[in-house]
Amino acid sequence: MAARTDEKHRRRLRKERGELEGILEALQGQLRSLVDEGREVAESDFSEEGGDPDGGVVERDRVRARIADTEEHLRQVDRAEQAIEDGTYGTCRVCGTQVPEERLEALPWTTLCVQCKAAGHSA
Ligand SMILES: [Zn+2]
Repeated sequence: MAARTDEKHRRRLRKERGELEGILEALQGQLRSLVDEGREVAESDFSEEGGDPDGGVVERDRVRARIADTEEHLRQVDRAEQAIEDGTYGTCRVCGTQVPEERLEALPWTTLCVQCKAAGHSA
């Protein structure tokens, strides 16, 4: 297939991976400090009535959810990079249809055509 096109997508995927890894690192740092704060709040609240221990829990769950999303996105990038190596990049991994170049431009990590994505297959 067109090696030059592959190289372009490979570069975009590498850039995407770099950004995702940066985001993941920031989120994990955020989660660590939230866990630490939670510990301090729990200790300082120990002798007091009230406090809002759940506030921190909600925030931590939110950060954890974003970490899970980012990790899932990284796995998609992994799969797309693997597909480039396998020479299957750009074809839908469910039905084998050629994924339009515009879709690959917009979502370089996608391994599904629009129809299969719409049919509920997860990318
Ligand atoms: Zn398909």
